[in-house]
Amino acid sequence: MQILVTNDDGVQAPGLLALAQEMRKLGEVTVLAPDRNWSASGHVKTMHKPLRVHDTRLADGNPALTSDGAPSDCVALALLGLVKDIDLVVSGINPHANIGDDVTYSGTVTAALEAVLGGVPGIAVSVHTTSAFQGERDYGSSARAARRVAELVIANGLPPRLALNVNVPHLPDEEIKGWRVTRQGVRIYKDELVVMHDPKGKPFYWIGGEYPTAHLDEGSDYYAIEHGYISVTPLQLDMTNHKALTDLQEWKFTP
Ligand code: MN
Repeated sequence: MQILVTNDDGVQAPGLLALAQEMRKLGEVTVLAPDRNWSASGHVKTMHKPLRVHDTRLADGNPALTSDGAPSDCVALALLGLVKDIDLVVSGINPHANIGDDVTYSGTVTAALEAVLGGVPGIAVSVHTTSAFQGERDYGSSARAARRVAELVIANGLPPRLALNVNVPHLPDEEIKGWRVTRQGVRIYKDELVVMHDPKGKPFYWIGGEYPTAHLDEGSDYYAIEHGYISVTPLQLDMTNHKALTDLQEWKFTP
């Protein structure tokens, strides 16, 4: 079993270390992860500049590869032949939940989607903390959850063009209530335009605002993690709205 481990927070992120250590219990692990933080970078294919790959080491001394590309670039580089015979790609562990509409922004999730595009099962793993959480995260329970999902994917396989998005409450194992297979929910973003001015008086902008919440719909990813369950959402690349596909047939496109 050859497992590629990547993330969107950068190769030295503690969540990646915890994930790589846990995946080593299942097979041979290669780490190829970005050299910086790409959180909320979306699904990237770098085509306008060359990509570099360097050797590095994780904090536990194990060798790793790092690239100046995005998380999805790291997966593409590996699957296109930089790493031989990958059976599974696992991305994370992201220090914030990736739920609802986050999946289009998330570098963690898009790394798993890139794996699927390359014909290999992909799993994205994130830990859910409340917005008020301060201090260092414990990735123990989320790493063990990632290993359990990976074991099941290895045992059962995944249908083609399907990725798993796993979100784990930031709780000790004994306080996690169990598992829920969920649908992607709906985020409530609280983004605000923050305008500032440079020394020459020209405006520049931040997309600021409070940490998002989400609709607490039963059966959704957010509902599960808010109630102490590990959420496993099967994601597909086909974003077609099938109801609208029928409705739009009624439109007269030719005037
Ligand atoms: Mn991130």
